[in-house]
Amino acid sequence: MKPPICEVCGVLGGGGAAVQFPVDPAERAAWDRFVESGGVGHPPGLAWYCAEHLAEGRAAAEAAQE
Ligand SMILES: [Zn+2]
Repeated sequence: MKPPICEVCGVLGGGGAAVQFPVDPAERAAWDRFVESGGVGHPPGLAWYCAEHLAEGRAAAEAAQE
């Protein structure tokens, strides 16, 4: 996992939360194979937002689902 650094302002932590963006099925399948083979890393499409930018991040993820 990446450290929880806000995608907007770069603050570390910031009392926010992770937001899952839509991921291409092929990318998701590749990630699943990577994890099954013991790989550790940052899941595709997962972004962190601080408390201040969390609403912005969630709106962006929602818009990306279109
Ligand atoms: Zn922020």
